[in-house]
Amino acid sequence: MAWFKRDRKPIENPTPVEERRVRTEGMWTKCSSCRAIIWKKDLEANWEVCPKCEHHFRLGARRRLELLLDDEHYIEHDAELASSDPLKFSDTKPYAQRLKDAQHKLGMKDAIVTVEGRMNGRPVMCCSMEFGFIGGSMGAVVGEKVARAIERSLAQGLPLIVVSCSGGARMMEGAVSLMQLAKVSAALGRLDEARVPFISLLTDPTTGGVTASYAMLGDLNIAEPGALIGFAGPRVIEQTIRQKLPEGFQTAEFLLDHGFLDAVVPRKELKPYIGQALDFFLG
Ligand SMILES: [Zn+2]
Repeated sequence: MAWFKRDRKPIENPTPVEERRVRTEGMWTKCSSCRAIIWKKDLEANWEVCPKCEHHFRLGARRRLELLLDDEHYIEHDAELASSDPLKFSDTKPYAQRLKDAQHKLGMKDAIVTVEGRMNGRPVMCCSMEFGFIGGSMGAVVGEKVARAIERSLAQGLPLIVVSCSGGARMMEGAVSLMQLAKVSAALGRLDEARVPFISLLTDPTTGGVTASYAMLGDLNIAEPGALIGFAGPRVIEQTIRQKLPEGFQTAEFLLDHGFLDAVVPRKELKPYIGQALDFFLG
């Protein structure tokens, strides 16, 4: 004998199974740190910070400007500057094609956005890197845009904020990308002589040639929690020095403990923190 009997016909779902799957796909994401399942909208509203464990996900270049600047009434500089592929480089795919794909996907010509806007009412020059564009790598365009932003800061006496998010120099441009390190560093030297403040914000990841140039040259070098920051990767270092590396090596917190950074600041506190620092620098 059955415990209960269903009188009516079961309710039919008008949506076929495949469509139902498509509708929910991509709406959720898993936190790589605490493995919590998070609704993407929640993550977005929380500036891409896990609401459960405060893990900082990567933030796009434009979203970063939204976070730091007062409004979107900023002037973008050199938006049309694009790489000329000086070496006609090709690996698994021609570099020219890689550039075209990234430009199409992200709607930007290279891996950085440089703007002049307002932060807490104060005019600032701000550069924001985009990791989605060939790993945020620094080729001639990124180097030139940063150098021009520095020159504009210098000419107008505007404080400079550079947000790094990069795998390093762009190997597809060979020595041309390495030259950017010297160019940008020399320009920052002039900014320093003119006593115009430069705040460098290092986000996950900041490595290679970017760490070796402007990212570590700030009057204030600050990072987001948990960010990977280094020059060479841990495997290369272990093989070179033939020693096991300590726990947490190359994280923002480790670097702060060892005097390479001035502060580790959570994403939501960045704007007031930088604002206060600029008040201090500029009196
Ligand atoms: Zn989490």
